[in-house]
Amino acid sequence: MRTKPGICQRKKRFASEEEALRVAEKAPFPLRPYRCELCGHIHLTGRTKGMKLPAFEIARRRAAKAVRRENAEA
Ligand SMILES: [Zn+2]
Repeated sequence: MRTKPGICQRKKRFASEEEALRVAEKAPFPLRPYRCELCGHIHLTGRTKGMKLPAFEIARRRAAKAVRRENAEA
């Protein structure tokens, strides 16, 4: 992914994807870690459209869908 220098400086940097995922997991909206071409660190992006979702986000969506199904059947 292309990152503008200004965005890179503003964004939080993570040393590893695992670290970034731990933060993303706690966020109330979907975030996805990516490797920055400028600083070589990991940033988080809210742009998940057309991207592979992290495992926890897939699980979260699957769980939400299951709840909706249960409510519809009840
Ligand atoms: Zn960066």
